[in-house]
Amino acid sequence: MPTSQSTPYIGRFAPSPTGPLHFGSLLAAVASYLQAKSANGQWIVRIEDIDPPREHPGADKLILDGLEAYGFEWDGPVIYQSKDHERHAAVIAGLVSAGHAYPCSCSRRDLSEVRRGSLGAIYPGTCRLGCDSKDVAIRVLTHDQPIEFIDELQGAQSMRLESESGDFVIRRRDGLVAYHLAVVQDDADQGITEIVRGIDLLDSTPRHIHLQNLLNIPTPAYVHIPVAENAEGQKLSKLTGAAAIPTEKVRTTLVAALEALAQETCEGLEAQSVTDIWAWATAHWQLQALQGRKNIAPQHYF
Ligand code: GLU
Repeated sequence: MPTSQSTPYIGRFAPSPTGPLHFGSLLAAVASYLQAKSANGQWIVRIEDIDPPREHPGADKLILDGLEAYGFEWDGPVIYQSKDHERHAAVIAGLVSAGHAYPCSCSRRDLSEVRRGSLGAIYPGTCRLGCDSKDVAIRVLTHDQPIEFIDELQGAQSMRLESESGDFVIRRRDGLVAYHLAVVQDDADQGITEIVRGIDLLDSTPRHIHLQNLLNIPTPAYVHIPVAENAEGQKLSKLTGAAAIPTEKVRTTLVAALEALAQETCEGLEAQSVTDIWAWATAHWQLQALQGRKNIAPQHYF
């Protein structure tokens, strides 16, 4: 009798090209990489370049150069999400024709008075029964059954989408495909089995699971890692002025990243080669060291 084989692990790092890697995005890259490598899995890099107004020309190259300088080795070619625009558009059209999504002409101003939740304005369903404008976004219908999942670090999660977020946008009025739709479809197309990303996206995951259910695609495992904060307690990001990771202090920064992720290090680790640091880190990787952690306190963020 052949023994049954478990699905091979495929993980990913999916940065938006809004600026170079900073210490916070390095942590997401390191955690997703070590989760994949320690499972003998593949690790894919996908540049999420579907929101040009937020992007910075050349940031994709800066990110990839940074990953290379830090010794990351990704599987297959780098994927550019914008190349899948037609596929995303077809998936959106399919949701509309199946009655799962509908055009919406509400402007930001129309929604300025509505109730707000942790995800922003809670859409009250104004256009559910139709709208006649041509200048429309597309929203996906939600329901109020709880969407539940277990995050490997943050534990049991539950959200009632209709009352906590409302029907959400999958294609914007400007024609751009929304992150929620693109990320769900691409993770499925690329066979991602586990998603490791920052806890700032934890609240988005119920929307992703809702889309997976509508599109009949499997839900991967989820791991939301704590986010690194600056001295003011703000998430490190381009918006809060996080500095690019240095390419001349790679080993020191890599060991600092392992420490920030609560990993075991050893005397003299940063004097070893980058390859040897990765080998140590892979062999000693303990995701559970981050169990329940929501933030990583500021240390020295280069
Ligand atoms: N592109 C998103 C970002 O850079 C991350 C998406 C994800 O990991 O799902 O914040």
